[in-house]
Amino acid sequence: MFWTGELIARTAPIRRRLLQRSPRTDRAVAAYLGLAIGDALGATVEFLTPNEIRQNIGVHRDITGGGWLRLKAGQVTDDTTMSLALGQSILASSRVDALAAAQAFDAWMRAKPVDIGNTVRRNLITFRKTGNPEASASEHDAGNGAAMRVLPVAIATFGQSTEAIIAASRAQAHVTHHNELSDAACETLILMVHDFLAGKNPVEVEKLRAEDLVRRYPVFAYDKKRRENPSGFVVDTLQAVFQAFFATETFEDCLVDVVNRGGDADTTGAIAGMLAGARYGCAELPERWLKGLDESWRDACEKQAEQLFELANLSV
Ligand code: MG
Ligand code: MG
Repeated sequence: MFWTGELIARTAPIRRRLLQRSPRTDRAVAAYLGLAIGDALGATVEFLTPNEIRQNIGVHRDITGGGWLRLKAGQVTDDTTMSLALGQSILASSRVDALAAAQAFDAWMRAKPVDIGNTVRRNLITFRKTGNPEASASEHDAGNGAAMRVLPVAIATFGQSTEAIIAASRAQAHVTHHNELSDAACETLILMVHDFLAGKNPVEVEKLRAEDLVRRYPVFAYDKKRRENPSGFVVDTLQAVFQAFFATETFEDCLVDVVNRGGDADTTGAIAGMLAGARYGCAELPERWLKGLDESWRDACEKQAEQLFELANLSV
């Protein structure tokens, strides 16, 4: 796409607003916008194989909508909308609260979202019957549904103790996914976001978080075969995300790499976009993707990131 003078003038206010924040707030906002961009970009090719993407599109690099959900260009899916629902519950309670999160997810499900994972649906239906916001532990519930929505918890708990971070992560995750691998993935992602907000470099973060995860749970090893066509299994998801994230040096290259692997591409896109946003900041988000995102979702992500970061600053 070529940028005309008019288009550049129209996006200038977004860019100006994005550049007026403190570096940490900027990275928190970029993480949220990155999550939504990755979701909107990846949804077009969700459930396609890399070969099918090559044949149908070539290299997928624009927010065009479509896909199996027949989205309008710039629309997001459950990865972003569940994150926003969770974030609202955190802002309303001024903390991460399991019951408030479960009620927020339940209200989100009643509003008939464009997509919903099987584990999420099953355990929210159980919550409706029992009122218990903690699902029973299950070795089968190792999907990526809790990991895809960790960002509001990450922003709100920035600066807190490790124990408090883990408790908050599990409170939200266990509403639908009560599983050790999911927990390990969620906690690793939250700590990675914190590291980037604090300005750590990716070499440190890889050693401290990704390699530590693999040491504790070798199943997450991502240094071997290229992970293509990742399923919704949280291990597949993180392998694809880590491979793309640590092997690239721009926000754009990271997202293009991960979504062109196909499979659960909206979710790998969302998680990679979150990490890459936190790493690179708003100035590195491509104009065409910022502009391509539906305006109401873009504004909601921006505003919520700022509010959650304010809450984090009040809580420490
Ligand atoms: Mg989705
Ligand atoms: Mg998905």
